[in-house]
Formats: sequence, C-alpha cells, structure tokens
Amino acid sequence: MAVGTAVDWREGLDAGDVSSEALVRGAFERIRSLDSHFHAILAVDEERSLRLAQAADARLRSGERSPVLGLPIVLKDNLNWAGLPVSCGSQVLGGYQAPYDATVVARLVQAGAIPVAKANMDEFAMGSSGEFSAFDPARNPWDTTLVPGGSSSGSVVAVAAGYAPLALGSDTGGSVRLPASFCNVTALRPTYGVLSRFGLTAMASSLDQVGPIAATAADVALALGVMAGRDPLDSTSSDLPGAERLGSLRAKDLKGLRIGLPREYFGGGLERGVRSLLEEALRVFTDQGAELREVSLPHTRYAIDAYYLICTSEVSSNLSRFDGVRYGHRAKRGNLPAMIAETRDEGLGAEVKRRILLGTFCLSKGYYEAFYLKAMKARTLIARDFEQVFESVDVLATPVSPGVAFPFGAKTTDPMAMYLADTFTVTAPLAGLPCLSMPAGFIAGLPAGIQLIGPAFSDVMLLEAAHAFQQLTTHHLETPPLSA
Ligand code: GLN
Repeated sequence: MAVGTAVDWREGLDAGDVSSEALVRGAFERIRSLDSHFHAILAVDEERSLRLAQAADARLRSGERSPVLGLPIVLKDNLNWAGLPVSCGSQVLGGYQAPYDATVVARLVQAGAIPVAKANMDEFAMGSSGEFSAFDPARNPWDTTLVPGGSSSGSVVAVAAGYAPLALGSDTGGSVRLPASFCNVTALRPTYGVLSRFGLTAMASSLDQVGPIAATAADVALALGVMAGRDPLDSTSSDLPGAERLGSLRAKDLKGLRIGLPREYFGGGLERGVRSLLEEALRVFTDQGAELREVSLPHTRYAIDAYYLICTSEVSSNLSRFDGVRYGHRAKRGNLPAMIAETRDEGLGAEVKRRILLGTFCLSKGYYEAFYLKAMKARTLIARDFEQVFESVDVLATPVSPGVAFPFGAKTTDPMAMYLADTFTVTAPLAGLPCLSMPAGFIAGLPAGIQLIGPAFSDVMLLEAAHAFQQLTTHHLETPPLSA
C-alpha cells in the first residue's frame, strides 16, 4: 500500500475508501519489508493492533468521525502502552512490560488511533544520533550509512519510511526536532505542560515533553489536538489555547508576521549549505509579506552548559529507580548492595552512566552552588531573553542543527562534539517554549530542517505558520528513495 499523509488517510477513512485494518496491515507489511534495513522498531503486537483497527472500522461504519480514528501510530519506547515492553532503549529494562497506558497513549487510543509499534531510541532518550540505543541503532532512510538523529530515532524513521503516518517521540533538548531535520519530517515540541508526562519514562522532568511527529504540520496537529490538555495525573499539565483549531488546521496569513532571526544562531558553526537553505526558506515567508528582524538572545552561549548540568542532575535522580528491585533486569547476586550495583553496571550503557555520574557530582555538597544553582540562574536569563524578544517579534526562525546527518561513529567517542549538535535545540526547552522542525530542503541529497520557536502556548499558531509554509513548498513531500 502506498504511503500517505494522515490528512489523506483521514479523508479516505471517512469516505470509506480505505479501512483502518488495511492501513494497519500495510504498516506491518512495510515494517516487515523495510525494517531489516532501518532498525526503527523494537516491538509489535500485531494481533492487538489489528483488533483495535477492526474496532476503529466499526466506529467509522457507525458514522463516528474523529481526527485520528483508524490511523496507525508508532510510539517511542519510553512511552507506556500497557502489556507491551517499554525498554527505553536500555538493557536494564529487559523483560519489563508497561503496566498501564501513558495519558497521551490512552487519549490517542480512546480517539481511535492504532498503536502499531514501539520505536528504537537512544538509551533513556540520552543522545542526538540514535547510536546510544542498547539495540541495533536505527539507520537514516536517506542513507543508511548515516545516523537518523536522536533520541527519537525510530519514531522519526518510522514516519520517514512510511511505516505509519504518525509517531510520538519525546523531546528534552531536541529529540524530536533534530531527527526530524535529519530525516525530512515535521515534529513539534509543545509548550512545557501541554502534553501530560504521565507514563513517559522520565529523563529530565523539568524539560521532558512528548512530541508528535508526522510528514506535515497538519498531520502533527491531528495528533496534538487529541492529546493536549490538563491531566490530573500530571500536575504540570495545562490546557492549550486554540486546541479546537487543530482538527482541521488552517494556513496562517503570513502578511505582517514578524519573524525574528537570532544573531547567535547564525554564527560561525553553521554549515554554509544549511545557511543558504534557511535563506531560501525565509524568502518563502517574506514573499507572503512576513517581515524579518535581526534580534539577539545574548545568553544563548550558556545554553549547552546549563542544559547538560540541569539534565544530568535530573537524570541522576530519576534513574536511581532502576535498581534491579522494581523493574526489569536483576543481576544474580545474593547481597542487596552488590545486586543493585551490578544490575546498574550490567544494565546501563556508557552515556547513561556518564550522565548519572556527572549529575550526581553537580548535586553533591560543595558543588551544588557552583554547578546546579548557577545553571538554574543561566536558565532564568535564557528564558528572559526570549520574553524580551517576543515583545517585538511573533516567532523566531533558526536552524535545527549546524549540519545534516553524519556518519555512524563520527561523534560517539567525543561526548562534547555530540552535545554540540544540540546547540540550537536546547534553548527553547530551557524556557519551556514551543518549537518545531520542518523540512526546508536538501543539501547534496540530504534533508535539513528549519526551526520555528514561539512564545509559550503559541503552539497552534506555530503549526498554522508551518502549514502556510508547507502549502507553498514541496520539501515535506519528498520521501527517501530506499523506502519506495
Ligand atoms: N540530545 C539531547 C541529549 O542528549 C536531547 C535529548 C532529548 O531531547 N531527549 O540530552
């Protein structure tokens, strides 16, 4: 079966031209024929997905209409879907099955979406390339010698390779936007709180957000509308203003839209090809009457340091629960302290251990003030930069990444080089702001995205602006030749 966008399939399902069961069977066919090349998928339960699809078809036949009813969706393997493994890309959770549904998953299933697979990822979402998965890492469908980007590697590959029109990832410091840029899909990181974190395995709780991934902004909107809003099970969750506009997204009128270009994002580190793609993309906006303004976010230079101090501190605390007692893998040792130590030593990968150690150090007596507290102060300054800038512009446009997808192994031995891939993606999360990545074109056959960042709770406007761009461009319609 051909690959289509969620909006296309939505129309087909509503018109009775295609059944949910056919879409779900098509998803499994593609996974079977392609995933030996791409390694995007860690687990499936075909029987259960097919049962859900048949139930969705019955709802469609009875006249029910809803944005995601009958559509297949792939879930990052740090989201709980009851009864299936939730490995988080780690050995330490070997044999563990989710005992309940994440709120975002429950809301999607209730609205009739069909989860079809759990997707590969960097271990506990720590990584920028997908290579830190404890399993065979996902490959970039545009060139399987290159990384797909991480940490939501499998989710993005699943959409790029047409396994499913929708996927969920998570974004702590860039994990849906970076791979979206590397694989030519669209991904939103919502305002912190718009999507419940209940049932998302915590990495850095003050930064983690679930992020919908699809070919287009209109598709992303379908999934977001169903999931968004307050959840009594996550006290940091809140309602999304304008969510009712997500079911059938309209293009934003770009006339008079004030687009800020932060000077700090267009400096020396940016590859020339990416810069010219961005300039071309910006022309699409200005041709419609948008205005460009150079702005400054002066504390951007502290963002990577602040992010990696705060993130690792929260990691050191959140990951202490993986002790061999409560979840998954347990080392064979009689005495408790040795069992715990050995379980963590055997079960956790090098990057996860590095972060736990760093974070524990940052939080320890005598260093807390020098590192964690200072990083929190920098975080406040970064957030204030954005507040000030949004007094004079409506949205910011920036690169997603300094370059395109890189070869496997290029950065794995140099943690600092890997962290620097996140230069443009960690700032908005530190301020809790919504941001998205969408296809902006190709450099020597490899895709690169453009990032839009908006003020808090402007998620719907961001998607409408992205939709306007996608009505005027065709980059997002290009699919990788290998997936044909
Ligand atoms: N690459 C960043 C990190 O390694 C972001 C990860 C994420 O957003 N989950 O922390």
